[in-house]
Amino acid sequence: MIKEKKRVLVTGGAGFIGSHLCEALIARGNRVTIIDDLSTGREENIAPLLGRPDFFFFENTIMNKGLMDHLVKETDEIYHLAAVVGVKNIVDDPVRTLHTIIVGTDTVLELAHKHGNKRLFITSTSEVYGKSPDCPYSEEADRVLGPTTRSRWSYSSAKAVDEYMALAYFNKTGLPLVIGRLFNTVGPRQTGQYGMVLPRFVKQALSGEPITVYGDGTQTRTFSYVHDVIGAMIKLMDYSPAMGEIFNIGSEEEVSITELAEKVKKITGSSSEIIFVSYEVAYGEGFEDMQRRVPDISKVNKAIGFRPETRLDDIIRAVAGWIAETGRE
Ligand code: UDP
Repeated sequence: MIKEKKRVLVTGGAGFIGSHLCEALIARGNRVTIIDDLSTGREENIAPLLGRPDFFFFENTIMNKGLMDHLVKETDEIYHLAAVVGVKNIVDDPVRTLHTIIVGTDTVLELAHKHGNKRLFITSTSEVYGKSPDCPYSEEADRVLGPTTRSRWSYSSAKAVDEYMALAYFNKTGLPLVIGRLFNTVGPRQTGQYGMVLPRFVKQALSGEPITVYGDGTQTRTFSYVHDVIGAMIKLMDYSPAMGEIFNIGSEEEVSITELAEKVKKITGSSSEIIFVSYEVAYGEGFEDMQRRVPDISKVNKAIGFRPETRLDDIIRAVAGWIAETGRE
């Protein structure tokens, strides 16, 4: 007897992370359906998958509840990635940010429950920790946010509402779901158009333009490779004891943004100048950044043995190779 393929729905499947996730799911024998309105997703990202008999693309919004009802009904499990992403988009359009994130997730939760408690991965973000100085962040760490007049924090708050709703569904209805808080995730197909630092620096370095470090460059981040991250997402989804739990997914290799600029310059052999740009010029008045962001990954390590495997230098090489090859940015 031929075993039916597992049917997986990926919202935001044409995005940077979503498209890599779809490839991994198809490689493991799943039948994948995606819904993406191509607001930040790109058709090029899924070009290698289009036309396959085990891949289905709906160019539509997750706000289309009628379509979502159909798609959720016809699936076995759901990875919910669709959201407004990128600090620039969030600052520029907080209304859309809040609406898409909160209403979109509410729809997914309601429908997953309605159609027989479909297993669900909720993609959250390190942004929920805000600017707490209590780094590295464990999942139980306090959240520290700025005032509501600073629109950056709307993203953190909206994603936190998603987490509250998801946990409430899990507790009340038993909807099997796991929440992954993704830290800065990078790799080929990530665009620098919405502010993301690594593709921006690499593109600037390759084209000889100045590398724009915002603020004084002492702020730190950890960057993890998209393939490592999606590996963790899939393993968590397969791991029943993870249901109802929140996991950080990220790297512990902390680097300042100035160090990142220097590394990119060195690895690409660029002669670009490194310049410092005030946050005000970059994002407008009243922007707040966080000084450090590092995950505590002991929980996800204990659950599924996750350790990021790809080092930052190799990630930069991969991103540079992709930008040089495709000319995309
Ligand atoms: N950043 C920068 N130059 C850029 C874009 C971003 O110095 O051209 C900084 C940004 O201010 C932040 C860090 O790089 O301190 C990471 O920014 P990104 O938007 O990639 O992610 P975030 O961690 O802020 O969500």
